[in-house]
Amino acid sequence: MRALQLIEDRRLETVDLPEPGAPELGEVTVAIKAVALNHIDVWGWRGMAFAKRKMPLVIGAEASGVVETVGPGVSNLRPGELVSIYGARICGRCKNCVEKRDNLCEHVQGVHGFHLDGFAQERINLPARLLVPAPPGVSDVAAALAPVTFGTVEHMLFDNAKLQPGETILVHAGGSGIGTAAIQLAKKMGCTVITTVGSDAKIEPAKALGADHVINYREDRFEGVVRKLTKKRGVDVVFEHVGADTFAGSMLSMKKGGRLVTCGSTSGVSTQINLMQLFQQQLKLLGSFGCRMENMANAMQKMAQGLVHPVIDTEVTFDDIDTALKRMEGRDVFGKIILRV
Ligand SMILES: [Zn+2]
Repeated sequence: MRALQLIEDRRLETVDLPEPGAPELGEVTVAIKAVALNHIDVWGWRGMAFAKRKMPLVIGAEASGVVETVGPGVSNLRPGELVSIYGARICGRCKNCVEKRDNLCEHVQGVHGFHLDGFAQERINLPARLLVPAPPGVSDVAAALAPVTFGTVEHMLFDNAKLQPGETILVHAGGSGIGTAAIQLAKKMGCTVITTVGSDAKIEPAKALGADHVINYREDRFEGVVRKLTKKRGVDVVFEHVGADTFAGSMLSMKKGGRLVTCGSTSGVSTQINLMQLFQQQLKLLGSFGCRMENMANAMQKMAQGLVHPVIDTEVTFDDIDTALKRMEGRDVFGKIILRV
């Protein structure tokens, strides 16, 4: 079967791998349909000095597939069923797993596509407990966006930042995959959404998703515009994932007691924080990584109801992977790039 492997930094190849064989106890064989690309793929491709990884490595951290064969002991899934795949290999037995705080698993074995072989392959055997069935009306592309794109955002906005109807939120990089999800999810619950984009071409698409105000951060200092738009008050919540380039401005964009939730640092991992600002303004900084499987199920329910929809930049094949990752690195995308398997 075909698979897309990272051989060394910046060298990806389509290779032939052996079929996975019959599923073992508690496992199913999944035929992968769609893989959504993420910044974790970009980080992985260009090399990360601080992460220990094995190579070669099959890439792809976020995917959907169809159940092909069900192994012994699996009763909740049937062949032909479309599933969204939880991307981290969690234990399922520790206190956090049992209490459904999946992304706080104490014995996680790693993230697929980064520490462990990922989903850019035709077939894979996976524990049934890591598969979330897609409800009727959800496409394979939409189901591929439930784990990272929509699940991460559900977890950030609702579990961590506890976003409330009527609040004002600043969503960074409204044209990114998680940005397009955050705009829709916040708008649908009745929030005022301010978002930033890196080019004028992204302003109208961001408004079409529900953003009330769109700031081109290359032309205006976003923190100044945010203070003007909120009459110097600041926003209730900042949705961060850009990191070094935006963090100081994000701190200045919050109202007293505001919450900043972050899941990424695409522009760099280090920044300085003014501690006096942190405690005097009583700001709350919330780190968020991945999601709970329940977040994926909730996101797919909203997709099935037509409340939110996946925003797709392009669909590509294994042959186009280098171009796709370069475009992501250059932030020259609106929405998600889907890798067809
Ligand atoms: Zn666990």
